[in-house]
Parts: sequence; structure tokens; C-alpha cells
Amino acid sequence: MTSPADKEISKPSNFLRQIIEHDLAHGTYADRKWGGSPGDAAHHAAGQTDPAKVRLRFPPEPNGYLHIGHAKSICLNFGLARDYGGVCHLRFDDTNPEKEDTEYVDSIIDAVKWLGFGWENKGETNLYQASDYFDFMYRAAEYLIEAGHAYVDEQTVEQMRLSRGDFAHPGTNSPFRSRTPEQNLARFREMRDGLHEDGSMVLRAKIDMASPNINLRDPAIYRIRRATHHNTGDKWCIYPMYTFAHPIEDALEQITHSLCTLEFEDQRPFYDWLLDRLCEGGLVATPHPHQYEFARLNLTYVLTSKRKLAQLVYDHKVSGWDDPRMPTIVGLRRRGYTPEAIQLFAERIGVTKSDSWIDYSTLEGALRDTLDPIAPRAMAVLDPIKLVLTNWDEVMGAGKLDDCNAPVHPHHPEQGTRHFKIGKEVWIERTDYEETPPKGFFRLFPAHTNAGGQAIAASKVRLKYGHVIECVGATKDASGQVTEVLAKLVPDTKSGTPGADSIKVKGVITWVGVNDAVQAEVRLYDRLFTEAHPEANGKDFLENLNPNSLSVVTAYVEPSMANVAAGQRFQFERHGYFVTDLVDHGAGKTVFNRVTGMKDSWGK
Ligand code: ATP
Ligand code: MG
Repeated sequence: MTSPADKEISKPSNFLRQIIEHDLAHGTYADRKWGGSPGDAAHHAAGQTDPAKVRLRFPPEPNGYLHIGHAKSICLNFGLARDYGGVCHLRFDDTNPEKEDTEYVDSIIDAVKWLGFGWENKGETNLYQASDYFDFMYRAAEYLIEAGHAYVDEQTVEQMRLSRGDFAHPGTNSPFRSRTPEQNLARFREMRDGLHEDGSMVLRAKIDMASPNINLRDPAIYRIRRATHHNTGDKWCIYPMYTFAHPIEDALEQITHSLCTLEFEDQRPFYDWLLDRLCEGGLVATPHPHQYEFARLNLTYVLTSKRKLAQLVYDHKVSGWDDPRMPTIVGLRRRGYTPEAIQLFAERIGVTKSDSWIDYSTLEGALRDTLDPIAPRAMAVLDPIKLVLTNWDEVMGAGKLDDCNAPVHPHHPEQGTRHFKIGKEVWIERTDYEETPPKGFFRLFPAHTNAGGQAIAASKVRLKYGHVIECVGATKDASGQVTEVLAKLVPDTKSGTPGADSIKVKGVITWVGVNDAVQAEVRLYDRLFTEAHPEANGKDFLENLNPNSLSVVTAYVEPSMANVAAGQRFQFERHGYFVTDLVDHGAGKTVFNRVTGMKDSWGK
């Protein structure tokens, strides 16, 4: 285990690390108090000096399954908290009553844990839900009204839109803007008490209708919405707007660094305006949290929007949120991704302040780099054809099987040895035989005359970990399709025996014994979209779905693959990385998913 300090040194810096290091060096948050749980200014003032040097948060809306973009944010927030002696809260941003579901809450908890992070710290749970702050939010709204910073606007949605102005034109004041605090308070309480219809009026912050930042032109902060909330039921018929709720959530939780994606940059002035007002009123502790923006993850061939991923699920374009082609955490996990691979990916892409696209191969590269040192090796034949060793009975004896050994991992002899048997018949890849081979083909071909009229001798190849064989030819069916490949065993050439290397071969092929092979269903996944930018050229992403994103083959794998548990990852020599499927593998069924090939094939 490396200590947090070691990790810090080994990690490249970025603008967020610099900000946090600066704040720590200058003691920006050193005197902060922590009341042991989220709360208002008085609650924290009565607490101890905060044992957490910094507080960050990951605030998902529980309206879908988390995806690789969220993973970037999780690794960032929890990683910074870990590296700087802080803590990261997991907060469900559940202030919008309509879209949320406890199924998503559970899946989000699982996903963050699986990625390797926790939110508990010295007895604090730090698992929060924003809807628990509705009472405080209401109080904050009343405070703003009383202080003359908010008013109830009864204009129609259309009137409000028109009076907002645009980039070129300042907005105009609402006729309701000059009401007294008393009038506004009475109206707001009527809103709360259900005396007005949904959409008939809103509470707006009173800032500046001529502000060059449109977000400061009296943004709506509370609306009437009769909806049952999964946490608070029918207690409320008014709900805070996201832009009002979010800064308050951060402030109650004593967040120091509130990280969000760049789309929220224009919201920062309102974030600060609101918390400055609430600090003035003594409602929330000072210094209040500060928002910083970073570039969201855009990954080629991948959609990173819960809403669009939900569409793929509900339209049955994939088998579910955990379909191995989905960029959800559950999908990536079922596909065979490891938490280590995703963390390494997040570290490699870093954080920046400008949007860009990350190539999918970066994610796969991180996976290969983390799996290669640990994945046990195995042989598998994905497109099997039978190879018959015609002289086996003479050379080895009829019915004889010969033992072969291979290391579980070539660089880790301590992991031991795999055992399997070779006999008269083995499975090989169909593409390892060519009757008239193209130039540079070093696998199985019989003696033949090439296009230039030259006599070419039959090829000799090694069956990996087995013997050298010499190709004889093939048997075919009536349609000319090869049904069996024929070869002769070259005696005394078995791998690991004296003199085995006396015959030089140009090719080595993988195989599994007909006698001891395990039949397996192998699911070969390809990119889900044919376009690197699934929504490029104004197209609907559904039009760019790759019709060949999944093909299922019946393969043979070596006997060490019998009885492996679900979720185990292997490298099938030559073919890439494979994982036993978390859902369908087991109970007599062997099912592998291809995680990724051996090499990057995305650019091709
Ligand atoms: P979606 O559009 O997929 O619903 P969201 O941003 O609305 O995404 P939230 O549940 O609100 O989803 O997101 C929780 C956190 O994850 C936010 O802080 C957000 O900034 C971050 N996040 C979401 N998508 C990405 C992404 N593609 N890259 C980096 N961070 C992301
Ligand atoms: Mg969202």
C-alpha cells in the first residue's frame, strides 16, 4: 500500500489540485467548524474544528444508472478528498420530485462502492439526500423575501420569457417586482399552502434584469408542483429550482470545493450571490463553498447522458442498463472492466478546463494495462474447425492422450501451471488454415504451387505448448467447404522436451483438445455506435447504432476454464481479454464476454 503522501507525489498536478493546495497552504478553510452533520450556521458554530481538511461531494440525481462520465467525477471528487486529508460526501440530488426512483439510489451506492470509494469518515456517514434540506431551503426563501431579495412573480411563462431579454437586449422588470416583502411573504405562503395552481406563479430572486449574465436576471427559485416526492411524500407542493437548491446543499454540508462541469460556469455568479446573501443573514456558515468547473468527459462511440442511455434501455436497443455494451458502471462491470482500470483511465485523462473528446482506445488501454499483469492465461478457439493428426496412432499410440503444461501467467511462475491434453484431434481456428495461402501467411497450408509456378512445401507450425505438426491438407464437403484440417505430428518435438526446438517453425497456433475442451458461449462485443460522435451531423443517435455490436459464437476453451466462477477475467491467448458473464454464466452454462481485444483496433 502506498500512503496518501506517496500517491500525491506520484500524481500529475492539475488546476484543481493547485487550488486545493493553495487553500490548504493559506488556511482558507482551517477555522471551519463542523457540527457533525449538515446544518445551518448555528449548528456548525456549535461544533468542533472540522476534522476533514477539505469537503467535496458527488451529487448525482437518482434518475438513472451512473455512466463512465460520472465515474470521472467520482474518481475526481473522492480521489481529491482522499489525497488531501478530506472527505467526499455522496449526496442524492433529489429535489426534483418527478424523475427519481429508489432503484437508482441503490444502484448509485453500489457503483460508487464498486469503484473503490467510501464516504464514511470518523463515524460520520456522509451519505445525504438533498430533499432532507427542504425545510431549510424554504426558510432561506423566506429570508430572501424578508430581506427584499426575492419576490413572487405572477406573470405567465411566456411573459417571463419575453421580459428576460437576450444576449443583445437587457430584460425588463416584472410588474410584480415592486411588491413589498410582506405582500411577497403572504403570497409565498399561499403557494406553499396549496392555494394556487401549478405554474401560476414562481418565486424569483431579485437581482438585476439588465445583468449581462442572463442567469442573474431574476432567476426563478421556487415553483409550484403538485407531485409526490419519494422521500417527503405530499408534504410539499412547492419545490426549489436546482440552481437555488444546489448551493444551499453545498453550504449546509460545509463543502469547501464544489466541482461541477463547465455548463455551470455561467451559474457561478448566482451560486455566489445566493450564498453571500445567506451568509449576510447568518443562515449558513462562512466561508461558504466555492464552485469550480471542469470539462465533462466526452468519449468517442459513447453516449454520456442518463436520459439517452435510458432511451436505449426502454426502446430495447440493449438488454438493460447492465448490457455489456452500455457505458454504465454496471454495464462496464459486466463487460469485464475493473475498478482499477476505470481509476487509471480517470487519472490518465486528468481534468482540464476545456471540452474535448477522449478516444475510446484510452479506456481500453487502461483496461489492458491493468489486466495484463494479473489475468490468468488460457487457450480458446472461437471459430473452431477440427484438426486431425493423421499419424497420431502410429507415433503416439491409438487412443493415447499426451499431457501439456502452460504457465497460468508468463511473468508469474508462482501462479502455477495449467494442464491439458493433446490427442489425435484438436480444435483450431478456421482461419489458421489456407489451401493457397496469401504471402506472409505462416500458419497451416499444404504443399502447393504458388501463383508464380513455384513449388511451396507444406507448412510446419507448433501447436502452442504441444508438438510441431506438418500440414497435409483438408477434407471438404460436397460444396467445397473445409470440414477437417489434416496434419502429421513431427515426433520428438513436444514443447519443453529435449530437442523440441531442433525444428524451426515460423508459426505457432493456439488450440484446445477435442478430448478435454469445454464448450462455451462467447459474446463478442463491438462498439455500440458506428460513429465516433454518435450524434454528429445532427443525427439521432438511434440512426447510428451498430447493427453488429454483438455476435455470439460457440467456442471451445481449455479445461482449466471448467467451473470458474462468474466475473472472472482471463486473457485468451491471441484473442484478448474475456470475463465470465455475471448474469448468465454458471449452473452448467459457460458464458464469456469479450472485454477487449489484444490490441487497439479502434482506429482501424
Ligand atoms: P446526465 O445528463 O447523464 O443525467 P447529469 O450531469 O445530469 O448527467 P447528475 O446525476 O446530475 O447527472 O451528475 C452527477 C455528477 O456527475 C455531476 O456533478 C456532474 O457534473 C457529473 N457528471 C455527469 N456527467 C459527466 C460527464 N460526462 N463527465 C464528467 N462528470 C459528469
Ligand atoms: Mg441531470
